[in-house]
Amino acid sequence: MQIDVINPATKQVVETLNRSSVEEVNDAVATALQSFETWRQKTSEERGVVLHAIADGIEASATELANLIVAEQGKPLPVAMMEVGGAVAWTRYNADLSQAPEVLEDSADRLVQVHRLPLGVVASITPWNWPLMIAIWHIMPALKAGNAVVIKPSSNTPLSTIKLVDIVSAIEPGILGIVLGGKIAGEALVTHPEVKKLVFTGSTPTGTHLASLIAKDLKKVTLELGGNDAGIVLANADIDKLASKIYMGAFINMGQTCAALKRLYVHRSKYDALCDALVDMAKAEVVGNGMEEGVTFGPVQNKNQYDLVTSMIQQARDSGSEVIAPELPEGLDGYFIAPTIIKNPPLELSVVCDEQFGPVLPVIPYDDIKEIMKDAIHKEFALGGSVWGEESEELDWVVGQLDSGTVWINNHAEVLPHIPFGGNKLSGLGVEFGVEGFLENTQRKVVSYSRT
Ligand code: NAD
Repeated sequence: MQIDVINPATKQVVETLNRSSVEEVNDAVATALQSFETWRQKTSEERGVVLHAIADGIEASATELANLIVAEQGKPLPVAMMEVGGAVAWTRYNADLSQAPEVLEDSADRLVQVHRLPLGVVASITPWNWPLMIAIWHIMPALKAGNAVVIKPSSNTPLSTIKLVDIVSAIEPGILGIVLGGKIAGEALVTHPEVKKLVFTGSTPTGTHLASLIAKDLKKVTLELGGNDAGIVLANADIDKLASKIYMGAFINMGQTCAALKRLYVHRSKYDALCDALVDMAKAEVVGNGMEEGVTFGPVQNKNQYDLVTSMIQQARDSGSEVIAPELPEGLDGYFIAPTIIKNPPLELSVVCDEQFGPVLPVIPYDDIKEIMKDAIHKEFALGGSVWGEESEELDWVVGQLDSGTVWINNHAEVLPHIPFGGNKLSGLGVEFGVEGFLENTQRKVVSYSRT
């Protein structure tokens, strides 16, 4: 069976690829294992030099990579260029990380150090929203730590990852392999006995399923899963200053970002002004094919997501909520959904309770912050959350209440190479980025030298 990669702006097939068989998965792991044996012998500094060369290679292919991302994913070209820029930044950050042993005690009694060893072959499974950037997030810390990686991209968006593997292979053959497909290739990869770690970004059901498959082998696992991030706008928030950041936090990448703002709770005194500002920004978007000049807002990536998000919006309409969205331009034939604001939705509506992962934002007015926090703290998800307002006791209290992996103040969905990022509850396990994320790709070995 083959994979048709569809351009979501046109519904046309961009490319048809073969799915990897189990034998091909086994071959990919064997090649990675062989390369690991020499790659691990290099010093951390030598591996850093290779990672910088990879970053140079990505920069040299930036336009080609960005065009592939637009064709397979749908986002506007400037956003795809931003994704390529992020890929370079994360690669260079990891290139410069130190793997020197940490000295815990250096006394007359003993010298105790923690060494960080590579694990072996790491399996990476990625989703379709930021296909290149998330691949880089998985691959680069693993390689820098001395591991080899085999990646399985989403079948919806494999093209930019294939190009990335070509770039890496031209510089350091064998350390990064790729397999294509879904359940068959993916499960063969993660359960392969020579795969020592899984790093997975995607939905909570798939992530927990894969973790259960490898639990008996005690493989390491990092899971970045779903979210339903809440933002809370306080009565003292400066709407003129913050509205555009709130809009971006929700609609970045057409809302298809794990840690996008997915529910907004606004104090009633600011409610209408903020909703009006958000609607104005939605109306200013130029919706269309991301390859066209001037387009600022593309389609959602696939039909399933399109159907899910449009059905949530329809349910909101049926509930009597006010659904506000600009008209779509005529003549579009892709999975387009205009940026949509939903006013006064009932709290039990799916668009509020469930992850939409699309261009829709329910905006909920509140009078009593203590009451609304009971709803804002999601029972299952805890990826990110945000508070918007001036410094105050109330702001501190809300920050203290939120139980998500990241709490932003006057911002949302900002991720940086040096800041750990990960979800709590069913939003994930472990962490990516920063030194903490890097160390998840290593095996700790304590060396204790007695001096007495
Ligand atoms: P998904 O779970 O359907 O797929 C993710 C990946 O898993 C794909 O590569 C897919 O082919 C693969 N896969 C699916 N079933 C598999 C199986 N049985 N064995 C092996 N591999 C399998 O998720 P998606 O639809 O691609 O992505 C959307 C979801 O990802 C959303 O829930 C979103 O919140 C989440 N996400 C989270 C983050 C984060 O950092 N927390 C980032 C991006 C996306």
